[in-house]
Amino acid sequence: MIAKLKRPRVLVPIVLLAILAVLPFALPDSKYEQSVLIVCFLFAIMASGWNIISGLAGYISLGHSVYLGIGMYTGAILGKAWGIDPMWLIPLGAIAAALVALVIGVIVLRTKSHAFVIITIAVLLSFQLLAANLKKITGGSDGLIVPQPSWAVDLGNLPYYYIFFAILVLTIVLVAVVMNSRLGAGLVAIRNDEGKAATIGINTTVYKVTAYVLSAIPFGAAGALYGQYLGFVNPLGAFAILASVYLVLAALIGGRGTLWGPVLGGFIVAFANEFATTSSGGVSARVLIMGLILILTVMFLPAGLLPTISSRLARRRTKGSAVTFIDQAAIAEQHDEIPIGRLIARSKADVDRATPILEVRDIVKRFGGVTAVGGVSLTVERGSITGLIGPNGSGKTTLFNCMTGTFRPDSGQVLLDGADITGDKIWTRAHEGLGRTFQITRLFKSMTVLDNLVAPLERTSARQMAAGRYSGEEVERAREVLDFMGLAQFETQNAAALSFGQQKLVELAQVLMLRPGIILLDEPASGINPTLIGKLAHVIKRLNQEGTTVLIVEHNIPLVLSLCDHVHVLAGGQILISGTPEQVRNDPQVIEAYLGPDHMLEAPHA
Ligand code: ADP
Ligand code: MG
Repeated sequence: MIAKLKRPRVLVPIVLLAILAVLPFALPDSKYEQSVLIVCFLFAIMASGWNIISGLAGYISLGHSVYLGIGMYTGAILGKAWGIDPMWLIPLGAIAAALVALVIGVIVLRTKSHAFVIITIAVLLSFQLLAANLKKITGGSDGLIVPQPSWAVDLGNLPYYYIFFAILVLTIVLVAVVMNSRLGAGLVAIRNDEGKAATIGINTTVYKVTAYVLSAIPFGAAGALYGQYLGFVNPLGAFAILASVYLVLAALIGGRGTLWGPVLGGFIVAFANEFATTSSGGVSARVLIMGLILILTVMFLPAGLLPTISSRLARRRTKGSAVTFIDQAAIAEQHDEIPIGRLIARSKADVDRATPILEVRDIVKRFGGVTAVGGVSLTVERGSITGLIGPNGSGKTTLFNCMTGTFRPDSGQVLLDGADITGDKIWTRAHEGLGRTFQITRLFKSMTVLDNLVAPLERTSARQMAAGRYSGEEVERAREVLDFMGLAQFETQNAAALSFGQQKLVELAQVLMLRPGIILLDEPASGINPTLIGKLAHVIKRLNQEGTTVLIVEHNIPLVLSLCDHVHVLAGGQILISGTPEQVRNDPQVIEAYLGPDHMLEAPHA
């Protein structure tokens, strides 16, 4: 802990915050400076709160100042109605913002990317309209006078300075806690690849809504205070689109997704705004300066100030020393002595061993006029390695997607352990023990290999979300699984730095963290070198010996025929034949439709 505090990235901001804490005493006659810093605090609070939903989860909200407005109006309305001490209005503002964010979040988070951005602006403008029209409560466009706290007048801005400062510190703590929790890891996973996050058991809906609500809380608290500070609220001031633009700009300049970036950005934007106002006083100068900053940021600092600085420093530090080089083919020897069974065994109560682990009945899936899967029924026996082969475009991946819930089939049923899961969410299926890998590997590229392995979740619970990112038995298990796969050396590497084949093995390791009863492998051997194929075959066999069922789609026919107990052949979205590898190998239809007349089917070289 002490060693951690000595690192410059922790030490520098803490020293700067300490300076801000004593500044009013060091400069007793600093009314103007304090008022400028109060705006800095406000922007830093907003940019940091926004960072939780938009920086970590990647859902860009352009209307987030709506929650500042809700805090301002909550403070003004309740302060007037109840006449309570203004200090109490700050938590009430936070609670009001959280409740509104819960309702709005459940609705707006059904949309993605551009639609989400636009709808968040619409929410802000709707609240502006609402505030202007609910005259009885809000005073309409004339606004409301906000009751003032009973501080001695000669204290001036000082109490505001310190309360804003305290809210900023609490906001930074909140963001730090989120970033270091399972929730934060899940949010970054969602930003990387939301569909993939769902397949490893992350309940993306709950995660996004939680992040959205948490991000609104600092806005609500700051809003209640800001209303008192201004002494007045009106619809255009409280629900200003410009505030949203500024705070987004602040986070982008500093570096979204980082802890201190939005704080730094908040100060820069507030100072720039102050400079523009005092130097010329015109709105046009403000727009010009902000526009210039935005253009410069996008052109020269696309990742934001802090990430750019830290990557420059890191590069300078590694200069001269040996560049870390990742051998694109190297995988260590597997550790067969590792008791993999213990790591992946799933304790599942009362399932009849004779029930097929996975079964689909009459699955139909169409895309417009194309029938990708046209009424497929098949079973995967418990404990088997089952193959699914067929020409390109025969519907294999689509069938996988129907099994895992990425697609809802037009008709038909999917049964896992005999239970109908056709309508279940993707993450529920993952929790139930259905794991899958992808034809084109989908690791979280901005995360390390270890982070990729601790991201999967076997269940959704508040305790899980609040738990530390590297806490619990998962981390040890992740290391053991990596060790078993011969991937331990890559633990701290970014997933993007690995070769295609290595990534495929990491993705399989990631799925193992779910303790899946059955794993669906989509073309695991395509595009990887023969050594890795041998390794992969070995891993699949070991997993199967330990009781894991495997359903494998693969074009490497010798591999499939040597591994599998049973093979289904798909052609044109229909099952052509199902049987033992021997039966399939000799079936004239298969030879005709798939293998071609001059096929060569030899045993694989391991
Ligand atoms: P396979 O994995 O066997 O190569 P796919 O399941 O990927 O085959 O594709 C089966 C058919 O469905 C193809 O004709 C493909 O073009 C079509 N298809 C697959 N996914 C989609 C999609 N998301 N949208 C439209 N058509 C699709
Ligand atoms: Mg495919």
